[in-house]
Amino acid sequence: MMPLRRFTIHQPHNLREASEMLAQFGEKGRLYAGGTELLLAMKHDLLRYEHLVDVKTISGLDRIERKDSALHIGGIATHRAIENSRLVREHFPFICEMERNVANVRVRATGTLGGNLCFAEPHSDPANLLSALDARAKVQGRSGERALAMDELIVGAYETSLAPDEILTGVEIPLPPKSQKAAYLKFQIHERPTLGLALVLDLDDSGRAITKARAVVGCVSPKPCRSEKAESLLVGERDKVEKQLADAAKALADTADPVDDLEGSAEYKRHLIGVFLGRAFAKALSAATSM
Ligand SMILES: Cc1cc2nc3c(=O)[nH]c(=O)nc-3n(C[C@H](O)[C@H](O)[C@H](O)COP(=O)(O)OP(=O)(O)OC[C@H]3O[C@@H](n4cnc5c(N)ncnc54)[C@H](O)[C@@H]3O)c2cc1C
Repeated sequence: MMPLRRFTIHQPHNLREASEMLAQFGEKGRLYAGGTELLLAMKHDLLRYEHLVDVKTISGLDRIERKDSALHIGGIATHRAIENSRLVREHFPFICEMERNVANVRVRATGTLGGNLCFAEPHSDPANLLSALDARAKVQGRSGERALAMDELIVGAYETSLAPDEILTGVEIPLPPKSQKAAYLKFQIHERPTLGLALVLDLDDSGRAITKARAVVGCVSPKPCRSEKAESLLVGERDKVEKQLADAAKALADTADPVDDLEGSAEYKRHLIGVFLGRAFAKALSAATSM
């Protein structure tokens, strides 16, 4: 590992100041939160910045709170804070479970949700689940605030649609109806996940039929992926849907178009999608692990 090149850390008092700094430094500057990705890449000389703008000095950005009919998780909330949040557990226990399985406790204590989403490393967990939950990323820059769906925020491997002066201030997740069931599962043999699969199912009053389904697979290709065809096969009477799981998995795999990489071959990942969709279906519908 190379010794770190010299850089200056700047500590803005508010979002406006942070955006101004980012605009002023241009390609020589970068936002810095927990540093678990950024500093590592800088130590390896893969990224070079002369100025780091420390977003952690802006108060309130780590807040986790209920806002009307949504749960707001601040952009600098750490994985550990989310994992341990009573509010998150109350509404989305499977988010706490997903966070508990991110990296190791040292990374979770420092790494933030915003850093995870904005680095857009394909082998990551939160965007998969947040995408299935229809979460929206709140973003602020010099020209104001906007909200983006996860697939609008993450556009490719290590690539987001954020302008250089924009900061992810938080994520808003619509509070689920009581009839909603969800599960997130991942498969991991190395440092990062090989596959992450999120399944969110809305049930009818009888609980016997699925009225709406969202299935997202991530880590197998450059960005989290949904498939309309897969989701239509996941709607209907439970028994019927169970028989269609293999077709739904195939449709999801076709859309995700897995890639060969160090985590495994594309064929292996297609197989995993089938296995994990079946497991997520069973888990989501089991009362103990869903809402
Ligand atoms: C050993 C290891 C194992 C890991 N395992 C997993 C895993 O299993 N699952 C998983 O999902 N992740 C995993 N990760 C990734 C981890 O979740 C991220 O490293 C962490 O969340 C990044 O957050 P950070 O605050 O440290 O980001 P930083 O390193 O500070 O920043 C990362 C990037 O995001 C930008 N950024 C940061 N915050 C914002 C913001 N609010 N708005 C706009 N841009 C911003 C920065 O400019 C930078 O480009 C692992 C990481 C390590 C080191």
